Amino acid sequence: MKRKVLSYHRGEHHAVWVATLDCFHSLDIEQAQPSCIEMMCSKCAALQFPEGLTESGRTAEFTAATVPAGLLKNHTTKAGTWGQLHVLDGCVSYHPDGSSARDIQAGEHANIPPALPHSIRPDDMARFYVAFYTRPAG
Ligand SMILES: [Zn+2]
Repeated sequence: MKRKVLSYHRGEHHAVWVATLDCFHSLDIEQAQPSCIEMMCSKCAALQFPEGLTESGRTAEFTAATVPAGLLKNHTTKAGTWGQLHVLDGCVSYHPDGSSARDIQAGEHANIPPALPHSIRPDDMARFYVAFYTRPAG
């Protein structure tokens, strides 16, 4: 999905620039284009968790019986907040907008990029929670 460019800086290699995006990913690019204020983030598309984030909170543990109805419909985390779906028991089906659904089994987790519409479907045995991550200011 498209992300806002927060800044550009020179990368490790002379010819390469790095764009820092508001999803906390850094993308290597050929040329800095200050007029380019948004770009597609391939790392968000790949559900790749950024480095350097800290947990800002987490939900209670839910089951199929207690899951809030809002999580079963398309919903998003807010801009600048990553989610991580942690499955403790059973299986939760994770449906991120724009890519295929995947089954997250007990002991596994799935990354939820900021502001990406998604929904989940827990099975009857499922027990899970969602943790939220952001980058500390400064
Ligand atoms: Zn990204």
